[in-house]
Amino acid sequence: MSADWPGTLILGGGLAGSAAAILLARAGHRVRLWEKALHPHHKICGEFLSWEGQAVLARLGVDADALGAERIDRLRVTAGVRLAEAPLGFIARSLSRRVLDAALLAHAHAAGALVERGVTARALLPDGVVDGSHGALRPARLMLATGKHEVRGARRDGHGTINDQLGFKTYFRLRPAERELLSGHVELHLFEGGYAGLQMVEREAANLCFLVSPARWQAAGGDFAALLAAMGRDAPHLARRLEGALPLLDRPIAISGVPYGFVHQAAGGGFWRLGDQAAVIPSFTGDGMSLALVSAQMAAKSVLAGERPGDFQARLAAMARGPVRRAAFAQRMLGLVPARQQALVRALGLAPWAARLGVRATRVGARATRVGRAD
Ligand SMILES: Cc1cc2nc3c(=O)[nH]c(=O)nc-3n(C[C@H](O)[C@H](O)[C@H](O)COP(=O)(O)OP(=O)(O)OC[C@H]3O[C@@H](n4cnc5c(N)ncnc54)[C@H](O)[C@@H]3O)c2cc1C
Repeated sequence: MSADWPGTLILGGGLAGSAAAILLARAGHRVRLWEKALHPHHKICGEFLSWEGQAVLARLGVDADALGAERIDRLRVTAGVRLAEAPLGFIARSLSRRVLDAALLAHAHAAGALVERGVTARALLPDGVVDGSHGALRPARLMLATGKHEVRGARRDGHGTINDQLGFKTYFRLRPAERELLSGHVELHLFEGGYAGLQMVEREAANLCFLVSPARWQAAGGDFAALLAAMGRDAPHLARRLEGALPLLDRPIAISGVPYGFVHQAAGGGFWRLGDQAAVIPSFTGDGMSLALVSAQMAAKSVLAGERPGDFQARLAAMARGPVRRAAFAQRMLGLVPARQQALVRALGLAPWAARLGVRATRVGARATRVGRAD
Protein backbone atom coordinates (compact mmCIF):
# COMPACT_ATOMS: atom_id res chain seq x y z
CA MET A 1 0.00 0.00 0.00
CA SER A 2 1.29 3.45 -0.83
CA ALA A 3 0.07 6.84 0.35
CA ASP A 4 -0.15 9.85 -1.94
CA TRP A 5 2.00 12.87 -1.07
CA PRO A 6 0.77 16.09 -2.68
CA GLY A 7 4.16 17.81 -2.56
CA THR A 8 7.80 17.22 -3.49
CA LEU A 9 9.64 14.19 -2.13
CA ILE A 10 13.42 14.62 -2.09
CA LEU A 11 15.58 11.51 -1.75
CA GLY A 12 18.91 12.29 -0.07
CA GLY A 13 19.81 14.98 2.43
CA GLY A 14 23.30 15.88 1.23
CA LEU A 15 24.08 19.28 -0.24
CA ALA A 16 21.83 19.06 -3.29
CA GLY A 17 18.80 17.58 -1.55
CA SER A 18 18.90 19.92 1.45
CA ALA A 19 19.45 23.02 -0.67
CA ALA A 20 16.50 22.16 -2.92
CA ALA A 21 14.36 21.48 0.17
CA ILE A 22 15.22 24.88 1.66
CA LEU A 23 14.42 26.81 -1.51
CA LEU A 24 11.14 25.03 -2.24
CA ALA A 25 9.93 25.12 1.35
CA ARG A 26 10.71 28.83 1.59
CA ALA A 27 8.66 29.39 -1.56
CA GLY A 28 5.70 27.78 0.20
CA HIS A 29 5.91 24.29 -1.36
CA ARG A 30 5.20 21.16 0.63
CA VAL A 31 8.50 19.29 0.86
CA ARG A 32 9.40 15.97 2.42
CA LEU A 33 13.00 14.75 2.52
CA TRP A 34 14.28 11.25 3.21
CA GLU A 35 17.87 10.93 4.41
CA LYS A 36 19.11 7.44 5.11
CA ALA A 37 21.68 8.41 7.75
CA LEU A 38 20.16 8.86 11.19
CA HIS A 39 22.92 11.15 12.45
CA PRO A 40 25.47 13.58 11.00
CA HIS A 41 28.61 11.75 9.94
CA HIS A 42 31.87 12.22 8.05
CA LYS A 43 31.66 11.82 4.29
CA ILE A 44 34.31 11.18 1.71
CA CYS A 45 35.15 14.63 0.36
CA GLY A 46 38.17 16.93 0.19
CA GLU A 47 35.90 19.61 1.71
CA PHE A 48 37.26 22.38 -0.51
CA LEU A 49 34.35 24.72 -1.10
CA SER A 50 34.65 26.78 -4.22
CA TRP A 51 33.17 30.26 -4.65
CA GLU A 52 30.07 29.25 -6.65
CA GLY A 53 28.99 26.96 -3.82
CA GLN A 54 29.69 29.70 -1.30
CA ALA A 55 27.42 32.04 -3.27
CA VAL A 56 24.56 29.54 -3.08
CA LEU A 57 25.15 28.93 0.63
CA ALA A 58 25.08 32.66 1.32
CA ARG A 59 21.77 32.89 -0.50
CA LEU A 60 20.43 30.03 1.62
CA GLY A 61 21.50 31.88 4.77
CA VAL A 62 24.22 29.37 5.70
CA ASP A 63 27.25 31.20 7.07
CA ALA A 64 30.28 28.97 6.46
CA ASP A 65 32.57 31.22 8.54
CA ALA A 66 30.24 31.10 11.52
CA LEU A 67 30.34 27.29 11.22
CA GLY A 68 34.14 27.40 11.59
CA ALA A 69 35.30 27.27 7.96
CA GLU A 70 38.96 27.83 7.09
CA ARG A 71 39.85 30.37 4.41
CA ILE A 72 42.05 29.23 1.54
CA ASP A 73 43.45 31.48 -1.18
CA ARG A 74 46.55 29.71 -2.46
CA LEU A 75 47.24 26.53 -4.40
CA ARG A 76 50.42 24.53 -3.81
CA VAL A 77 51.21 21.67 -6.18
CA THR A 78 54.02 19.14 -5.72
CA ALA A 79 55.40 16.30 -7.84
CA GLY A 80 58.44 14.45 -6.59
CA VAL A 81 60.76 17.05 -5.06
CA ARG A 82 59.28 19.84 -7.17
CA LEU A 83 56.90 22.37 -5.66
CA ALA A 84 55.07 25.39 -7.04
CA GLU A 85 52.59 27.85 -5.59
CA ALA A 86 50.00 30.14 -7.12
CA PRO A 87 47.13 32.31 -5.98
CA LEU A 88 43.75 30.65 -6.50
CA GLY A 89 42.15 33.88 -7.63
CA PHE A 90 39.34 33.57 -5.07
CA ILE A 91 38.90 32.74 -1.41
CA ALA A 92 37.76 29.17 -0.94
CA ARG A 93 36.36 27.79 2.29
CA SER A 94 37.06 24.48 3.92
CA LEU A 95 34.44 23.00 6.19
CA SER A 96 33.74 19.44 7.29
CA ARG A 97 30.81 17.77 5.58
CA ARG A 98 29.58 16.56 8.94
CA VAL A 99 29.07 20.18 10.01
CA LEU A 100 27.97 21.61 6.65
CA ASP A 101 25.42 18.89 5.78
CA ALA A 102 23.90 19.04 9.27
CA ALA A 103 23.57 22.83 9.01
CA LEU A 104 21.79 22.56 5.67
CA LEU A 105 19.37 19.94 6.95
CA ALA A 106 18.63 22.14 9.97
CA HIS A 107 17.85 25.03 7.61
CA ALA A 108 15.56 22.77 5.56
CA HIS A 109 13.68 21.82 8.71
CA ALA A 110 13.48 25.47 9.81
CA ALA A 111 12.14 26.43 6.39
CA GLY A 112 9.23 24.04 6.90
CA ALA A 113 10.37 20.92 5.07
CA LEU A 114 9.50 17.61 6.69
CA VAL A 115 12.96 16.13 7.21
CA GLU A 116 12.92 12.40 7.94
CA ARG A 117 16.29 11.00 8.95
CA GLY A 118 17.00 7.28 9.04
CA VAL A 119 14.67 6.67 6.08
CA THR A 120 16.13 4.90 3.04
CA ALA A 121 14.56 4.99 -0.41
CA ARG A 122 14.78 1.39 -1.63
CA ALA A 123 13.30 1.60 -5.12
CA LEU A 124 11.39 3.75 -7.54
CA LEU A 125 8.54 1.69 -8.92
CA PRO A 126 7.14 2.13 -12.47
CA ASP A 127 3.89 3.71 -11.22
CA GLY A 128 5.78 6.58 -9.55
CA VAL A 129 5.68 5.04 -6.09
CA VAL A 130 8.85 5.30 -3.99
CA ASP A 131 9.42 2.28 -1.82
CA GLY A 132 11.08 3.40 1.39
CA SER A 133 12.32 1.63 4.49
CA HIS A 134 9.43 3.12 6.48
CA GLY A 135 6.68 2.74 3.89
CA ALA A 136 5.79 3.59 0.30
CA LEU A 137 4.82 7.00 -1.02
CA ARG A 138 3.57 8.35 -4.34
CA PRO A 139 4.72 11.99 -4.49
CA ALA A 140 3.38 14.63 -6.85
CA ARG A 141 7.00 15.49 -7.64
CA LEU A 142 10.24 13.57 -7.06
CA MET A 143 13.82 14.77 -6.75
CA LEU A 144 16.69 12.30 -6.70
CA ALA A 145 19.67 13.60 -4.73
CA THR A 146 21.23 10.41 -3.38
CA GLY A 147 24.76 11.38 -4.48
CA LYS A 148 26.90 8.42 -5.42
CA HIS A 149 24.25 5.93 -4.30
CA GLU A 150 21.88 4.49 -6.86
CA VAL A 151 18.22 3.85 -6.17
CA ARG A 152 16.75 0.75 -7.79
CA GLY A 153 14.51 1.69 -10.70
CA ALA A 154 16.27 5.06 -11.14
CA ARG A 155 19.89 4.19 -11.81
CA ARG A 156 22.05 6.73 -13.62
CA ASP A 157 22.07 6.09 -17.33
CA GLY A 158 25.79 5.64 -17.93
CA HIS A 159 29.35 5.50 -16.71
CA GLY A 160 31.84 8.28 -16.41
CA THR A 161 35.03 8.49 -18.42
CA ILE A 162 37.17 7.51 -15.39
CA ASN A 163 35.53 4.81 -13.30
CA ASP A 164 38.23 2.78 -11.62
CA GLN A 165 39.86 5.12 -9.08
CA LEU A 166 39.79 4.33 -5.36
CA GLY A 167 39.18 7.24 -3.01
CA PHE A 168 40.24 7.63 0.65
CA LYS A 169 39.76 10.36 3.22
CA THR A 170 40.98 10.84 6.76
CA TYR A 171 41.92 13.63 9.18
CA PHE A 172 45.21 14.32 10.90
CA ARG A 173 46.34 16.68 13.62
CA LEU A 174 49.57 18.05 12.18
CA ARG A 175 52.60 19.29 14.07
CA PRO A 176 52.25 23.07 14.68
CA ALA A 177 54.96 24.05 12.16
CA GLU A 178 53.33 21.98 9.39
CA ARG A 179 49.89 23.31 10.25
CA GLU A 180 51.26 26.82 9.94
CA LEU A 181 52.72 26.05 6.50
CA LEU A 182 49.51 24.44 5.29
CA SER A 183 47.20 27.14 6.59
CA GLY A 184 45.58 29.20 3.81
CA HIS A 185 46.64 26.67 1.15
CA VAL A 186 45.10 23.76 -0.65
CA GLU A 187 47.87 21.33 -1.54
CA LEU A 188 47.76 18.89 -4.42
CA HIS A 189 50.43 16.21 -4.18
CA LEU A 190 50.82 14.34 -7.47
CA PHE A 191 52.43 10.91 -7.66
CA GLU A 192 52.43 7.89 -9.91
CA GLY A 193 48.95 6.41 -10.06
CA GLY A 194 47.16 9.15 -8.17
CA TYR A 195 47.05 12.44 -6.29
CA ALA A 196 46.26 13.66 -2.79
CA GLY A 197 44.61 16.85 -1.58
CA LEU A 198 45.56 18.27 1.81
CA GLN A 199 44.11 21.31 3.58
CA MET A 200 43.17 22.53 7.03
CA VAL A 201 39.52 22.13 8.02
CA GLU A 202 38.00 23.93 10.99
CA ARG A 203 41.36 24.85 12.57
CA GLU A 204 42.48 21.62 14.25
CA ALA A 205 42.17 18.99 11.55
CA ALA A 206 43.93 18.56 8.23
CA ASN A 207 41.84 16.76 5.61
CA LEU A 208 43.81 14.25 3.56
CA CYS A 209 41.72 13.02 0.64
CA PHE A 210 43.23 11.09 -2.24
CA LEU A 211 42.61 8.97 -5.29
CA VAL A 212 44.78 6.06 -6.38
CA SER A 213 44.66 3.50 -9.14
CA PRO A 214 43.68 -0.06 -8.23
CA ALA A 215 47.26 -1.09 -9.14
CA ARG A 216 48.65 1.23 -6.46
CA TRP A 217 46.29 -0.19 -3.86
CA GLN A 218 47.19 -3.76 -4.79
CA ALA A 219 50.90 -2.95 -4.67
CA ALA A 220 50.35 -1.81 -1.07
CA GLY A 221 48.75 -5.17 -0.33
CA GLY A 222 45.40 -3.49 0.33
CA ASP A 223 46.82 -1.95 3.49
CA PHE A 224 46.14 1.75 4.19
CA ALA A 225 49.28 2.39 6.25
CA ALA A 226 51.44 0.71 3.60
CA LEU A 227 49.75 2.79 0.90
CA LEU A 228 50.41 6.01 2.82
CA ALA A 229 54.05 5.04 3.31
CA ALA A 230 54.45 4.30 -0.41
CA MET A 231 52.79 7.61 -1.34
CA GLY A 232 55.14 9.39 1.05
CA ARG A 233 58.15 7.88 -0.71
CA ASP A 234 56.89 9.27 -4.05
CA ALA A 235 55.66 12.57 -2.63
CA PRO A 236 58.27 13.80 -0.12
CA HIS A 237 56.48 17.09 0.52
CA LEU A 238 53.38 15.17 1.58
CA ALA A 239 55.51 12.89 3.76
CA ARG A 240 56.99 15.92 5.51
CA ARG A 241 53.53 17.35 6.27
CA LEU A 242 52.35 14.08 7.77
CA GLU A 243 55.48 13.29 9.76
CA GLY A 244 54.51 12.90 13.42
CA ALA A 245 50.85 13.73 12.62
CA LEU A 246 48.10 12.18 14.72
CA PRO A 247 45.31 10.34 12.85
CA LEU A 248 41.92 11.62 14.01
CA LEU A 249 39.66 8.90 12.59
CA ASP A 250 39.79 5.24 13.68
CA ARG A 251 39.88 4.22 10.05
CA PRO A 252 39.78 6.08 6.73
CA ILE A 253 36.60 6.47 4.72
CA ALA A 254 36.93 4.75 1.35
CA ILE A 255 35.03 4.69 -1.91
CA SER A 256 35.31 2.99 -5.29
CA GLY A 257 33.52 3.14 -8.62
CA VAL A 258 32.88 6.90 -8.69
CA PRO A 259 31.88 7.67 -12.32
CA TYR A 260 34.07 10.73 -12.89
CA GLY A 261 33.09 12.55 -16.07
CA PHE A 262 29.48 11.38 -15.96
CA VAL A 263 26.84 13.85 -17.14
CA HIS A 264 23.21 12.71 -17.13
CA GLN A 265 21.56 13.19 -20.50
CA ALA A 266 18.23 14.91 -20.45
CA ALA A 267 15.87 12.32 -21.87
CA GLY A 268 13.03 10.79 -19.85
CA GLY A 269 12.74 10.02 -16.17
CA GLY A 270 9.87 12.20 -15.03
CA PHE A 271 11.83 13.37 -12.00
CA TRP A 272 14.57 15.87 -11.14
CA ARG A 273 18.11 14.51 -10.80
CA LEU A 274 20.43 16.73 -8.72
CA GLY A 275 24.06 16.82 -7.59
CA ASP A 276 26.19 13.75 -8.26
CA GLN A 277 23.11 12.07 -9.68
CA ALA A 278 23.26 14.59 -12.53
CA ALA A 279 27.00 15.13 -13.07
CA VAL A 280 30.27 14.02 -11.44
CA ILE A 281 33.23 16.37 -11.84
CA PRO A 282 36.71 15.05 -10.97
CA SER A 283 37.51 15.66 -7.32
CA PHE A 284 40.78 17.56 -7.80
CA THR A 285 38.77 20.56 -9.03
CA GLY A 286 37.03 20.90 -5.66
CA ASP A 287 33.85 21.81 -7.52
CA GLY A 288 31.51 18.86 -6.87
CA MET A 289 29.87 20.55 -3.90
CA SER A 290 29.34 23.71 -5.92
CA LEU A 291 27.83 21.72 -8.76
CA ALA A 292 25.47 20.05 -6.28
CA LEU A 293 24.38 23.37 -4.75
CA VAL A 294 24.00 25.10 -8.12
CA SER A 295 21.97 22.16 -9.47
CA ALA A 296 19.61 22.42 -6.49
CA GLN A 297 19.16 26.11 -7.08
CA MET A 298 18.44 25.54 -10.77
CA ALA A 299 15.98 22.74 -9.98
CA ALA A 300 14.07 24.85 -7.47
CA LYS A 301 13.84 27.68 -9.97
CA SER A 302 12.61 25.26 -12.62
CA VAL A 303 9.89 23.89 -10.34
CA LEU A 304 8.77 27.38 -9.34
CA ALA A 305 8.56 28.32 -13.03
CA GLY A 306 6.28 25.32 -13.63
CA GLU A 307 8.75 23.57 -15.95
CA ARG A 308 9.06 19.86 -16.58
CA PRO A 309 12.13 17.97 -15.33
CA GLY A 310 13.48 17.48 -18.85
CA ASP A 311 13.86 21.26 -19.38
CA PHE A 312 15.92 21.60 -16.21
CA GLN A 313 17.95 18.49 -16.91
CA ALA A 314 18.92 19.68 -20.40
CA ARG A 315 20.02 23.07 -19.03
CA LEU A 316 22.03 21.50 -16.24
CA ALA A 317 23.75 19.08 -18.63
CA ALA A 318 24.63 21.93 -20.99
CA MET A 319 26.15 23.88 -18.11
CA ALA A 320 28.08 20.98 -16.56
CA ARG A 321 29.35 19.27 -19.72
CA GLY A 322 32.25 21.66 -20.49
CA PRO A 323 33.85 21.86 -17.03
CA VAL A 324 33.33 18.14 -16.39
CA ARG A 325 34.91 17.17 -19.72
CA ARG A 326 37.90 19.50 -19.27
CA ALA A 327 38.48 18.31 -15.71
CA ALA A 328 38.30 14.64 -16.72
CA PHE A 329 40.79 15.31 -19.53
CA ALA A 330 43.18 17.01 -17.09
CA GLN A 331 42.84 14.14 -14.63
CA ARG A 332 43.64 11.58 -17.31
CA MET A 333 46.64 13.57 -18.55
CA LEU A 334 48.16 14.28 -15.16
CA GLY A 335 46.85 11.60 -12.89
CA LEU A 336 49.27 8.82 -13.53
CA VAL A 337 52.54 9.83 -15.19
CA PRO A 338 55.25 11.45 -13.00
CA ALA A 339 57.03 13.10 -15.95
CA ARG A 340 53.87 15.00 -16.93
CA GLN A 341 53.15 15.86 -13.32
CA GLN A 342 56.62 17.33 -12.89
CA ALA A 343 56.29 19.28 -16.13
CA LEU A 344 53.06 20.77 -14.82
CA VAL A 345 54.69 21.85 -11.55
CA ARG A 346 57.61 23.36 -13.44
CA ALA A 347 55.22 25.29 -15.71
CA LEU A 348 53.20 26.50 -12.72
CA GLY A 349 56.39 27.73 -11.06
CA LEU A 350 57.24 29.75 -14.19
CA ALA A 351 53.73 31.09 -14.76
CA PRO A 352 51.70 31.08 -11.52
CA TRP A 353 49.05 33.24 -13.18
CA ALA A 354 48.13 30.23 -15.37
CA ALA A 355 46.62 28.52 -12.33
CA ARG A 356 43.64 30.87 -12.52
CA LEU A 357 42.94 29.78 -16.08
CA GLY A 358 42.98 26.12 -15.08
CA VAL A 359 40.82 26.82 -12.05
CA ARG A 360 38.26 28.72 -14.14
CA ALA A 361 38.15 26.10 -16.88
CA THR A 362 37.12 23.39 -14.45
CA ARG A 363 34.36 25.27 -12.57
CA VAL A 364 30.65 25.62 -13.16
CA GLY A 365 31.24 29.35 -12.96
CA ALA A 366 29.54 32.64 -12.23
CA ARG A 367 26.97 32.33 -14.99
CA ALA A 368 25.68 29.14 -13.46
CA THR A 369 25.05 30.72 -10.07
CA ARG A 370 23.19 33.61 -11.74
CA VAL A 371 21.16 31.33 -14.04
CA GLY A 372 20.09 29.23 -11.10
CA ARG A 373 19.03 32.02 -8.78
CA ALA A 374 15.61 31.25 -7.41
CA ASP A 375 14.85 34.78 -6.25
C1 LIG B 1 37.28 11.50 -3.08
C2 LIG B 1 36.37 12.67 -3.27
C3 LIG B 1 36.82 13.96 -2.95
C4 LIG B 1 35.98 15.06 -3.17
N1 LIG B 1 36.43 16.31 -2.84
C5 LIG B 1 35.65 17.38 -3.07
C6 LIG B 1 36.08 18.69 -2.72
O1 LIG B 1 37.15 18.90 -2.13
N2 LIG B 1 35.26 19.74 -3.03
C7 LIG B 1 34.06 19.57 -3.65
O2 LIG B 1 33.38 20.55 -3.92
N3 LIG B 1 33.62 18.33 -3.96
C8 LIG B 1 34.36 17.24 -3.67
N4 LIG B 1 33.90 15.99 -3.96
C9 LIG B 1 32.57 15.86 -4.58
C10 LIG B 1 31.43 16.08 -3.59
O3 LIG B 1 31.65 15.35 -2.42
C11 LIG B 1 30.12 15.66 -4.24
O4 LIG B 1 30.04 16.17 -5.53
C12 LIG B 1 28.92 16.16 -3.43
O5 LIG B 1 28.92 15.60 -2.15
C13 LIG B 1 27.62 15.80 -4.13
O6 LIG B 1 26.54 16.22 -3.33
P1 LIG B 1 25.16 15.44 -3.42
O7 LIG B 1 24.20 16.20 -2.56
O8 LIG B 1 24.82 15.17 -4.83
O9 LIG B 1 25.45 14.01 -2.77
P2 LIG B 1 25.91 13.62 -1.30
O10 LIG B 1 26.58 14.74 -0.64
O11 LIG B 1 26.64 12.32 -1.45
O12 LIG B 1 24.54 13.38 -0.54
C14 LIG B 1 23.70 12.29 -0.85
C15 LIG B 1 22.87 11.98 0.38
O13 LIG B 1 21.89 11.02 0.05
C16 LIG B 1 21.79 10.08 1.09
N5 LIG B 1 21.28 8.85 0.48
C17 LIG B 1 21.95 8.03 -0.37
N6 LIG B 1 21.14 7.02 -0.77
C18 LIG B 1 19.95 7.22 -0.15
C19 LIG B 1 18.72 6.52 -0.17
N7 LIG B 1 18.56 5.41 -0.91
N8 LIG B 1 17.68 7.00 0.58
C20 LIG B 1 17.84 8.14 1.33
N9 LIG B 1 19.00 8.83 1.39
C21 LIG B 1 20.03 8.39 0.64
C22 LIG B 1 23.21 9.95 1.62
O14 LIG B 1 23.23 9.46 2.95
C23 LIG B 1 23.71 11.39 1.50
O15 LIG B 1 23.50 12.12 2.68
C24 LIG B 1 34.69 14.87 -3.72
C25 LIG B 1 34.24 13.56 -4.01
C26 LIG B 1 35.07 12.49 -3.78
C27 LIG B 1 34.55 11.11 -4.09
